[in-house]
Amino acid sequence: MAYITLNRSHFFHNLTTLSLKAGSKEKLAIVLKDNAYGHGLEPMARLSAEFGLMRAVVRRNDEAHRIADLFEDVLVLNDRAYAHPKIRTALNSLEDIARAEPGARVDVKIDTGMHRNGIAESELEKALDAIDKKGLKLVGVMTHFRSADVLSSEYMWQKKRFEMIKARVKEAGFSVQFHSHNSAALLRCEDFDEDFARVGIAAYGFDTLPPVFARTELKPVMSLWAKRIATRTLRKGERVGYGGDFVAPEAMRVSTYDIGYGDGWRRGDSAKPYITPRHGAVLGRVSMDAVTLQGDDEKVCIFDDARRVSAHYGTICYEVLTALSPAIERKITE
Ligand SMILES: *Cc1c(COP(=O)(O)O)cnc(C)c1O
Repeated sequence: MAYITLNRSHFFHNLTTLSLKAGSKEKLAIVLKDNAYGHGLEPMARLSAEFGLMRAVVRRNDEAHRIADLFEDVLVLNDRAYAHPKIRTALNSLEDIARAEPGARVDVKIDTGMHRNGIAESELEKALDAIDKKGLKLVGVMTHFRSADVLSSEYMWQKKRFEMIKARVKEAGFSVQFHSHNSAALLRCEDFDEDFARVGIAAYGFDTLPPVFARTELKPVMSLWAKRIATRTLRKGERVGYGGDFVAPEAMRVSTYDIGYGDGWRRGDSAKPYITPRHGAVLGRVSMDAVTLQGDDEKVCIFDDARRVSAHYGTICYEVLTALSPAIERKITE
């Protein structure tokens, strides 16, 4: 079976770097949504807790339940709010308030410019009032930046709008935690002063800021490996796989390895093959459950830095990582 290795020392290096930026471990919430960006929810939650993080962020209640024992505080980004001592839920709309279970701990998400989820700035007081009437416990007020990873004034502009929101929340008499920073915002900011940052991609080892910003040294946590299924020797001119797209230029030994598009690995275009770190190009088309590579090693590293994959396929590393099937085994390495 293909497998994923998770490098504990790389992850801890990233978390150390990021908690220094945030001020302390208490100020770092690890985002574990979408199977911990494809790394595996449970192993990454356990490693985060072992490192000493207290806060996690997920998308749904079922994910929160699976990891709640490991943390003091779990923020759910998009599900029905219900009463639980550790779980808190982001309210993305006034309808979310109406749906929430009385007694639930909640964070109001304010739309300060991204226009994706969140309650309009003009409806803040209305939302605070509805939360109060419904008997919900307001624990946080949050927002999300649309362009923290772009060199422009947008981040500053949204940050300023959020500062005005904070003032209005305090004026309304609420004492809550404020949080707005994702990875890119935390990496670029020099004076982090909020209650915690919600960090995803940087914790997994990727600094997504463009080169004009100061680099933060982060180390990719995930490597993807595949195991050999079968080996054969091709004669010159023999073809490999569906459509026979690859033609052996000379006699060569090739093997199939057990990763394919059914596992969430990209099929891509056999005319522009992906090149593995140590075993050359993928030969011919990617099948549902297999790729062909030159040689006969028992196992091959498909990638150890998802940025090389995303650059090849013209996407972002978030997509490469989250696409990987949860059925692939995850192993922790040093
Ligand atoms: C996914 C997400 C994050 C984390 O973003 P990264 O860029 O991976 O750090 C933070 N906050 C919210 C609301 C999110 O949806």
